[in-house]
Amino acid sequence: MHVLLLGGTTEASAAAKTLAGAGIRAVFSYAGRTNTPVTQPLPTRVGGFGGVDGLVAFLKAEKISHVIDATHPFAAGMSVNASDACAEVGIPLVRFERAPWQPEAGDNWTQVPRLEDIPAALPDTPARVFLAIGKQQISLFTAKPQHHYLHRLVDVPDAPLPLPNTSFVLDRGPFNVANDTALMRSHKITHIVAKNSGGTGARAKLDAARSLDLPVIMANRPALPAARNVSTTAEVMTWLDHNADRGV
Ligand code: NAP
Repeated sequence: MHVLLLGGTTEASAAAKTLAGAGIRAVFSYAGRTNTPVTQPLPTRVGGFGGVDGLVAFLKAEKISHVIDATHPFAAGMSVNASDACAEVGIPLVRFERAPWQPEAGDNWTQVPRLEDIPAALPDTPARVFLAIGKQQISLFTAKPQHHYLHRLVDVPDAPLPLPNTSFVLDRGPFNVANDTALMRSHKITHIVAKNSGGTGARAKLDAARSLDLPVIMANRPALPAARNVSTTAEVMTWLDHNADRGV
């Protein structure tokens, strides 16, 4: 058995720990988006594979027998490639699936189908917007330059942020409600922008928004191809056990 674990999430780190502890041969894969990724207890590779063809070549070269897709729910490109490549090579794939967050009583959410739809859902009059969406899609918000944007990022940006009125805080999850509430207060935030990632690590901002009565503009997650879904590492281990005869 040789497992490829596609990472970049809390679930991926938990699975890596369990696989390593069980002595299962596995390689961890990061896209390479952050300068200081969490160190994993598995051999680790960093960087894209080069699309489906590159991933197919990697799977064959490394004699990968099983793929665990523990990428973020918004990392749809990698999930689609993993699905296509596993089908082509004929090896089993399992995907971590987090339940999306649901609004609760007292929440004031506007849900939009895609991240690209968020700027239009922001007001036209100047607001103070908290952006917790990572750095890749910041330029979408050039459509609404009148707002002040507070970004929460993992690394100091390599280049100036492409918005005239902006600031950032550096932090890495998991986050907690008390700190997020204090952050929103101290920056006088009026609107919160989020991706519906689900899970516990990033939900504190939503609880903070409820307690401060702030509106949340929430992007729903992209659709992914059908896959065998799991939500815990224990389920992954059971799946590996059931598919152990697929080892090469
Ligand atoms: P994406 O749009 O699905 O992926 C774009 C390309 O990045 C993929 O086609 C692949 O390149 C490469 N890639 C992505 N994940 C990879 C991995 N684990 N190992 C090797 N290559 C990978 O993904 P994204 O939204 O840019 O996210 C990148 C990474 O950050 C993911 O691993 C994800 O788990 C993590 N992350 C994303 C978010 C988010 O909100 N999107 C949040 C937290 C963490 P090739 O086609 O060249 O193989």
